[in-house]
Amino acid sequence: MVLEFIYTQPVKIFFGAGKFEGLGQILEELGLRRCVAVCDPFLREKLEALREKLPGICAVYSNIQPNPQLAGAAAVAALIREREADGVIGVGGGSTLDTAKFAAAIAHDGGTAEEYFRGLRPFPAAHIPVVTVPSTAGTGSEVTQVSVMSFGKEKKTINHPAFMPAAAVVDPLLTRSVPPRTTMITGLDALAHALEGYWSRNHQPISDQMAKEAVRLVLEHLENAWRDGSDLQARTGMSLAALLGGLAFALPKTAGSHACSYPLSEDYGLPHGEACAFTLDSFVRLNADERLETLCRQAGLSDAEELARRIAALKALGGLRTRLSELGAVDLDKLAHDCAVHPLMKNNPVPMDEAALRRMFEKLA
Ligand code: NAD
Repeated sequence: MVLEFIYTQPVKIFFGAGKFEGLGQILEELGLRRCVAVCDPFLREKLEALREKLPGICAVYSNIQPNPQLAGAAAVAALIREREADGVIGVGGGSTLDTAKFAAAIAHDGGTAEEYFRGLRPFPAAHIPVVTVPSTAGTGSEVTQVSVMSFGKEKKTINHPAFMPAAAVVDPLLTRSVPPRTTMITGLDALAHALEGYWSRNHQPISDQMAKEAVRLVLEHLENAWRDGSDLQARTGMSLAALLGGLAFALPKTAGSHACSYPLSEDYGLPHGEACAFTLDSFVRLNADERLETLCRQAGLSDAEELARRIAALKALGGLRTRLSELGAVDLDKLAHDCAVHPLMKNNPVPMDEAALRRMFEKLA
């Protein structure tokens, strides 16, 4: 057997219920004294309250919306310069973490946010450290070198070492307030990361192991977290699943479902996780092979068909949209074309051209 791979994971991870309360100590340990905190609007009060015990925070920015706009990252970068901050903390969902990561990467390099977004200026090699604190269990952004930003309607995933956080503080207690529908949407995003990292053409053994465990955890805990947000065991299982899902796709990258999620979000307004879940069961059936069957058996399922049915059942439970007819007037030709040309589609193990994608979407009419 010839086996070769490179594995790297530079983020220091602090995991456990209550870890957020110890943020001050963690900042001290990292040598950070003047951080700009970027936080989800719903967390601002909690962060302000904690600030009394947290001298390491010099400013708080909370003007964050889902599918975050580049202008937010530019505003945070300006705040970092103005306050001469030595670090950035992102506390919130993926939208908040990605804004914090983008802002820290560009703050001290002189270009405009749009120049980096468009690839007209390279990200600098050095940047101030970022500490990520996820408040949803889904994106895995706390451990990835990915930032997803939107400029107007244009949404782009940028993968660059400049976005790698220095540390992640994963506290399942923070996720208890996530409403049921968002719990389901973000949880299925974590499942998509695990499955796509596993079947990506670039998959490798260490990522595979994390993917398998993440899938098992989602199947065990997502429904419980959706039913009862205060169930700490379920929330802990999902926070771990999201973290492992992030690690599982960080190097292999995602594939078909994520490729399709971009047109579905940009043109039909689906939140990221719902857009990924829209085609996830279809891709389970399309990509089913011996490797996927093995993962399914290890996760306690009889086969890939049962996994596809479980995903469909979870989507129905969460009230997620599953048919094109629920998205308004859909331009099927454009949708199939845009999905086919998305760079992530190249990672799908089964080649999917425009015609194959059209056939897939016709079954979801
Ligand atoms: P989000 O950050 O957009 O948040 C969704 C909603 O949930 C918001 O209204 C937010 O205020 C609310 N919310 C967050 N935490 C909450 C809590 N604890 N209690 C109550 N409400 C809460 O959603 P998300 O799914 O976490 O992130 C999605 C974004 O992340 C998208 O832009 C997506 O493209 C991106 N993403 C990034 C990566 C990466 O590796 N960087 C991976 C996947 C997705």
